[in-house]
Amino acid sequence: MKVLITGASGGIGRAAAEYFLKKGHEVHGLDIREADEDLLKFSESAECCGAYYHHIADVTDKDSIRSGLPEGFLPEVLINCAGIQEGERDIDVNLKGMINVAEMLAVSNEEIKSVVNIGSASGHTGSEFPEYAASKGGVIAYTKNVALRIAPRAICNSIDPGGVTTELNRVVMDDPVLWNRIMELTPLKRWASAEEIAEWIYFVGVTNRFMTGQNLLIDGGEAGRAEFVWPE
Ligand code: NAD
Repeated sequence: MKVLITGASGGIGRAAAEYFLKKGHEVHGLDIREADEDLLKFSESAECCGAYYHHIADVTDKDSIRSGLPEGFLPEVLINCAGIQEGERDIDVNLKGMINVAEMLAVSNEEIKSVVNIGSASGHTGSEFPEYAASKGGVIAYTKNVALRIAPRAICNSIDPGGVTTELNRVVMDDPVLWNRIMELTPLKRWASAEEIAEWIYFVGVTNRFMTGQNLLIDGGEAGRAEFVWPE
């Protein structure tokens, strides 16, 4: 299938691109940055059963998306992974950017079969920067909205990871004190790898055929951590 993955030069998007390539798909990565060197090497290796094409574009700019992709390009699967965790611009990139891409390449696309939007556990807990949490809460609602509008020809779901070991989190992963504090709060005592989230993306986006408008929280129990208070 023809698959478009935004944020394909970063941790989760890059891992998803590699996973889809292993499964033999035609993968189009869209990112504000150049393609990841290791992904390009992988796409030329014997392990790769598909083909990779990279497109430079900014999801916050509709003209940039239009001009960055080949004319008439229509994906069958859309994976919205591009995102930031910076503060003020988070809603522009994580939510409005996702809306730009999905409206253009899923809602107005007769070829589309499946959409997967990447949110965050933060959309459930409200933790992290205010704009980040709000952007990810918006992803849950927007996913349901798209699911209703593209049915019956296609499905749309979202995935909310907890901590994932990508560059986005370098600042805490490299600080042993902060990292130990995080692990104390994480029931499974580890974060997910980007490759693990890529498997979920594939399952929800391709293996799945009947679930739509839903959100999967994949966080090692982080959001559900609760203490039972009761007399001894
Ligand atoms: P990352 O920083 O490793 O990768 C993000 C990619 O998005 C980068 O390649 C970046 O260049 C691209 N990007 C940023 N702004 C863009 C724009 N305007 N237009 C096009 N591309 C743009 O981050 P990641 O950890 O792989 O995160 C991917 C998604 O997963 C994000 O939406 C993030 O919020 C979400 N997420 C990550 C974690 C985590 O712990 N890493 C947890 C939950 C959710």
